[in-house]
Amino acid sequence: MQKSVARRDRSQVTGFVPTMGFLHQGHLSLVERCRENCDICVVSIFVNPAQFGPKEDLANYPRDLEQDLKLLSKYGVDQVFLPTQEDMYPSGYRTWVEVEGWSSILCGASRPGHFRGVATVVLKLLHLVQPQKMFMGSKDFQQTVILEKLLQDLNLETRIIRCPIVREADGLAMSSRNSYLNAEQRIQARCLFQALQQAKILYQQGTNSSQALIQVAREIISAAGGRPDYIKLVDATTLEERDEADDNTRLLLAVFIGTTRLIDNDALSA
Ligand code: AMP
Repeated sequence: MQKSVARRDRSQVTGFVPTMGFLHQGHLSLVERCRENCDICVVSIFVNPAQFGPKEDLANYPRDLEQDLKLLSKYGVDQVFLPTQEDMYPSGYRTWVEVEGWSSILCGASRPGHFRGVATVVLKLLHLVQPQKMFMGSKDFQQTVILEKLLQDLNLETRIIRCPIVREADGLAMSSRNSYLNAEQRIQARCLFQALQQAKILYQQGTNSSQALIQVAREIISAAGGRPDYIKLVDATTLEERDEADDNTRLLLAVFIGTTRLIDNDALSA
């Protein structure tokens, strides 16, 4: 494994998995998919300061590079790219990209600047790694939609491969931030998946009003002691809020469990 990105034979398909490290099975599922579909698998680990707000958890974000490198070696990754903050944002840095509108709704409403930071770092990583395919998890659904738009609008050839959400046995979506939860909060955190499941049952029984679907989700989250940041039914292509669920809508939620903000989402139809 190397710490920089090498020049590669362009006849080979390069796949890329960008991460912020502290790897879990969700990240590793992307690595597996990348290895199955590409000749070369590159993984980056970079905790991107530009996507953290001033009051967010940048300094405390969980890190374990040694363990990450062991896992990536076990999973047969060809290259691990570990840029430093100085590599990505040298002193005097002043260039940013933003997917307008979509970056200030949903998670962007409570995390101003977050998606500008994500879009900028991913664009820079793509220039450095030059992959044909980039593997992303559907857990960060808004992020994936925004990045697909970025690639389309800026005429980049990289294609995003959306991968399913990997969950713990009780349904909680795997996330590096789950490590912030204490034992009691870890149990409370089940409410995100339970809310999605209950909304799905309701939808599959014939309820398609967003108000009713959101209401059932809100009740489950509140009963468990979670504090919803938002619960929204959106168009899966445009992220616009929708009044009625159908095959192209998705229920997205962000919930505070204690001070930890967790996200999850599901297509109710599948
Ligand atoms: P992060 O390290 O949180 O920036 O995540 C890096 C990539 O892993 C993103 O594409 C995430 O969507 C993906 N990812 C994170 N958690 C999961 C999960 N539970 N299942 C699938 N993909 C995930």
